Amino acid sequence: MVQISQSISRIRISVQGIVQGVGFRPFVFKCAKERGLAGFVENTSGKVTIEVQGRSRKLKDFVHVICADHPPSAFLADVKIDEIPLADDVDFIIKESRLSHNKEPVIPSDFSICDDCLKELFDPSNRRYRYPFINCTNCGPRFTIIKGLPYDRSRTSMDSFQMCPECLREYTDPSNRRFHAEPNACPVCGPKLLWAQPDGSIIAEGDKALKLCKDIIQNGRITAIKGVGGFHLMADAANDDAVRFLRDRKDRYEKPFAVLFPADKDDALSYIRGAAFMGADEEMAILNKERPIVVLKRRPGSMLSKLISPGLDTVGAFLPYSPLHYLLLNDLKTPLIATSANFSDSPIIKDNKEAIDKLKGIADGFLLHNRDIVRRCDDSVVAVSKGEATFLRRSRGYTPHVFKLPYKLNEAILAVGGNQKVTVALGWEDKAVMSQHLGDLATEEGFQAFEDAIHDLTDFYSVKPSRIACDMHPDYLSTKWALSQNNVKHIQVQHHHAHTTACMLDNNLTDKVLGIAWDGSGYGSDGTIWGGEFLIADYKGFERFCTFRKFRLLGGEQAVKEPRRALLSMLYEIYGEDILESQRVIGSESQRDGGSERITNLKDIFTETELMVFLQMLKKDFNSPFTTSAGRVFDAVSSLLGICHKATYEGQGAMMLENSAGGQSVIESEGQRVKAYPVAVGRKDGLNMFDWESMFKAILEDVLNGIGIKTISRNFHETLAQLILDVAKMAKEKKGLKAVCLSGGVFQNKVLTERAVCILKENGFNAYTHNALPPNDGGISLGQLVVGSWC
Ligand code: ZN
Ligand code: ZN
Ligand code: FE
Repeated sequence: MVQISQSISRIRISVQGIVQGVGFRPFVFKCAKERGLAGFVENTSGKVTIEVQGRSRKLKDFVHVICADHPPSAFLADVKIDEIPLADDVDFIIKESRLSHNKEPVIPSDFSICDDCLKELFDPSNRRYRYPFINCTNCGPRFTIIKGLPYDRSRTSMDSFQMCPECLREYTDPSNRRFHAEPNACPVCGPKLLWAQPDGSIIAEGDKALKLCKDIIQNGRITAIKGVGGFHLMADAANDDAVRFLRDRKDRYEKPFAVLFPADKDDALSYIRGAAFMGADEEMAILNKERPIVVLKRRPGSMLSKLISPGLDTVGAFLPYSPLHYLLLNDLKTPLIATSANFSDSPIIKDNKEAIDKLKGIADGFLLHNRDIVRRCDDSVVAVSKGEATFLRRSRGYTPHVFKLPYKLNEAILAVGGNQKVTVALGWEDKAVMSQHLGDLATEEGFQAFEDAIHDLTDFYSVKPSRIACDMHPDYLSTKWALSQNNVKHIQVQHHHAHTTACMLDNNLTDKVLGIAWDGSGYGSDGTIWGGEFLIADYKGFERFCTFRKFRLLGGEQAVKEPRRALLSMLYEIYGEDILESQRVIGSESQRDGGSERITNLKDIFTETELMVFLQMLKKDFNSPFTTSAGRVFDAVSSLLGICHKATYEGQGAMMLENSAGGQSVIESEGQRVKAYPVAVGRKDGLNMFDWESMFKAILEDVLNGIGIKTISRNFHETLAQLILDVAKMAKEKKGLKAVCLSGGVFQNKVLTERAVCILKENGFNAYTHNALPPNDGGISLGQLVVGSWC
């Protein structure tokens, strides 16, 4: 008898990770019951605690199963087991959530519909047949419906829906897939679809609403559809008129639209395959349960309208992630444009009333529902390069994610990002969490979203930062906000230093690196506008090792919108006032559409008056600050080759220039035909400097000699890769550095990035690019955070 009582023991298991809202507790319950164990399981903020007692062998088995066979969406980051005194439980129960102030809650992300729910959605005998809000503990909205912690129905936007007896039975049955599925709902008791006309009047519900929506799309018109993290504008992606219509109404003339594809039951990728090229890695990225938009190379002659991405061979493709998408796409069987419903610089629209007010001039009807979106969350965007996915926008499905820092922070710190593509980040102990993509702060809504995100993070994680890191730019609204906060230490982090450290963090590096940070612009520590920087950096600080020769931003911000201005000011740096005499020829018509080369003149892209005024501005130093921007060099070459003189969206000149090189991996596969133009790195003002003059002159000569655009574009990319290698060699010689980090918006360019990584590696360097963080300004909050914690 003594032996038997000795073999009974009690243990406490503390599980951290993604364990709330993912069906983990019912799973634990089931495992305990099956083994006849007593005790309880309980959610406390951010972790699950299990106390369980029984025979040692059964306990061991129980622990093993919990760790090995947990539900697919759960992620066990840390499991702690302690033996504790026996208690007098006789049964195993799930305890109600307890409010507590644990500092490590994990907020689940939004999950795309799981296979089980998908099956039920299309099963006519199921009570949720064609119910657009079907979900279970393995899928459904989370982050976008949570009002507070711990994650419980009463603290989500499902709190206004009373479960019907049938749903309640599932919700309270520990053996059911919907046990404590907080957004659990059915057609009887849950949210419903509504169809509203542009005047706001609701004229249909449920399947009828869906039918009206489909009619509108089939008629080549535009709908606004409420999704998981906000509204999309949708239209038939195969119908030129529909796409043109949307472009006209949205004042978005050329910026690419994302396309949502139907997912065939037997082969989810069949529609995408018909429209784009995909490697195995790209297929995997698309099928990812987070369902990001994946940038693919478009198949010529596909059914997609060419107007979805004018001047580019790409398409941002994604698969349905909500049950509503599945219903819509499966019924229509055609790809749809699904673009975030917003106006150029403001955040995605999330509320019904807001949508109708703001989109009535754009949408011909609104597919709404009555489950509130608590926080906005745009779709995530990734690009796959050489088998590695890189985020261009980290948002829905991937947020909030807690990153582990390579060291422990002394104080909690908030970092507020830049000015565009803003994200904010919060760090404490050895953790950091980054917000969803917030976009630009210039509009009232944008700024509100920024403040809300800061509030969310500090509130969710119960962290009160004693430091705030921000950009150095005095005019960034994020900087202004940060500096206006009292009783905290302020740290202003140089923009390109933040890019570099974000890339270091992304690769878990702590030692000094050569950071190559190229983008459109960032405030330099000398008060000038930087953008083509080579920094020797670590988290503590940086030294500007090399930069681009400066030239003028003609008309300041206006120069960003017009690549031709960068061209003119670079020519001016080379030829001075003789620019008009010396430069008969500056460009040639693009060959992209198979047309013949056409030599153009500066006078073809500027009016006489413009030329006169602009040259005066350059000469008199009027509203034309100097910059070392790499992004503008891409612009200038883009204009020089006749590809893009005026941009209608950010980065258009550079994107089209990359496109003209023939797409990814091309340089490598046809390496022998590509040559680098002369790369001149000299010293000026105590600084190494890339002088682009000889490269520019060589490009001009090629243009004059009638060399094709594709060849010149490839050569240009090759030149910059060579430049990167040359400077890396200098840094290695002078500083003994072998690690090179590539960051900044320019490195969204796959042709350049792949080639640079390739030749760096061939020459014995360790080349690092971004993975989990975007190379663009969407990643700098975490870079600021690590720098700010060292100062
Ligand atoms: Zn499910
Ligand atoms: Zn129900
Ligand atoms: Fe930047």
